[in-house]
Amino acid sequence: MIVIVGTGAGGGILARELAKNGKNVTIVEKGPYIESKEAFNYYNEYVPEIDLLATTCVGGSTIVSMANMVRALDEELHEYGIDLTNEYEYVEELVGVHELDDSHIGQGTQLFLDAAKELGLNVSKMPKAIREEDCIQCGKCAFGCPVNAKWSARDFVDEAVEAGAELISDAEVIDIILCNLEACGVKYVKDGKESVIKAKKVILCAGAIGSAMILKRIGLTGIARELFIDPFVTVGGYLKDINFNSEVQMAGLVVGRNFVLSPHFSTFINEDGQPIEAKDILSIMVKTRDDAKGYVSGDGFVNKVNTINDIRLLAEGVATAGFILEKAGVDPNTICSTVYRGAHPGGTAAIGKVVDSNLETEIPNLYVCDASVLPIAPGKPPILTILALAKRLADYLLMY
Ligand SMILES: Cc1cc2nc3c(=O)[nH]c(=O)nc-3n(C[C@H](O)[C@H](O)[C@H](O)COP(=O)(O)OP(=O)(O)OC[C@H]3O[C@@H](n4cnc5c(N)ncnc54)[C@H](O)[C@@H]3O)c2cc1C
Repeated sequence: MIVIVGTGAGGGILARELAKNGKNVTIVEKGPYIESKEAFNYYNEYVPEIDLLATTCVGGSTIVSMANMVRALDEELHEYGIDLTNEYEYVEELVGVHELDDSHIGQGTQLFLDAAKELGLNVSKMPKAIREEDCIQCGKCAFGCPVNAKWSARDFVDEAVEAGAELISDAEVIDIILCNLEACGVKYVKDGKESVIKAKKVILCAGAIGSAMILKRIGLTGIARELFIDPFVTVGGYLKDINFNSEVQMAGLVVGRNFVLSPHFSTFINEDGQPIEAKDILSIMVKTRDDAKGYVSGDGFVNKVNTINDIRLLAEGVATAGFILEKAGVDPNTICSTVYRGAHPGGTAAIGKVVDSNLETEIPNLYVCDASVLPIAPGKPPILTILALAKRLADYLLMY
């Protein structure tokens, strides 16, 4: 028996690969099984000190993702003897990564692409895992898809269950059971009642905060001292009747040396304190790779420091976004930014520090396979890299 804790980017594919290849798998997930369109109700509690976005439900944060799929950290992972070339090819095909058809590139996105090209920036369409034939271009990816047109890890959980895996949802893992100093199960709470599952292997896929909390509780050293979040702001302004709010979001991409930019609607953009109507906003997400200066405590308290370098990189991206917006026709006097946020927490159980290159901790049979293991901030969408790492771990576990 293999127990998988959490059903997000790491947990979903692991469950699928192991169950479909004949392993006895039990999946324990803290959140409920929901329809994708309900996902906006399952965002974690807002903490003003650190606006960190994540959801607790089957599928984890992938269910509110924009389905942006890019390869990240290739060279950095080579340093740990990890070459994901084959795994990337496998997962890209599995989730159907492709650039959207022009029919799904809205007017605002096209203005972004054209303006960035004119400025000589490194611009392309964003690789996505969205099925155009189902997508109604409502701009609501981050709320959960109303028509199930984008991939999420919930799809893989469904496949795992079809292949015989057991899913225990609404159940929070609170401890790892040890037998002779090796992991041999988990303790979880469901409906206020504690239960234990015995297992040969335990794989934590509870996300950078959730896995760190569990690892801290069992007293592993070096956990959650180097949290990163890939900080972002959205910068935008007034462009009459652009209707960008109802386009497929983040369908374009500019890759700079220190930041990535992508067209992304935000209602936080306003003019002199007065909200601008949603249909009149064109805005761009600026995302950077941050220094891993943050920590998570055993009870889930998160602290994150923004270094001078973080602010410098963000400012560089914001300035570039401003140039694009102006070239795209946005009134420069209205351009402003949202607060600093994060949606890619990671690094809390990094490869080379807490887990080895097979993602095993110093406790035999206890593995971590989620954004926790990324050794540095990707500064880009991390799902594809987590999927590839999980595919690699699944293949490794299937050998034994
Ligand atoms: C709005 C938004 C948009 C995003 N868009 C993109 C995008 O387009 N492309 C991209 O690459 N990335 C995107 N991301 C980031 C991406 O979703 C995350 O980086 C990724 O899902 C992290 O995977 P994970 O496996 O580490 O954790 P998660 O996907 O968060 O999964 C962790 C799971 O563990 C469960 N869990 C937590 N604690 C416990 C416990 N104690 N017991 C049992 N279960 C537990 C959680 O409920 C959750 O289901 C986005 C994130 C957000 C919030």
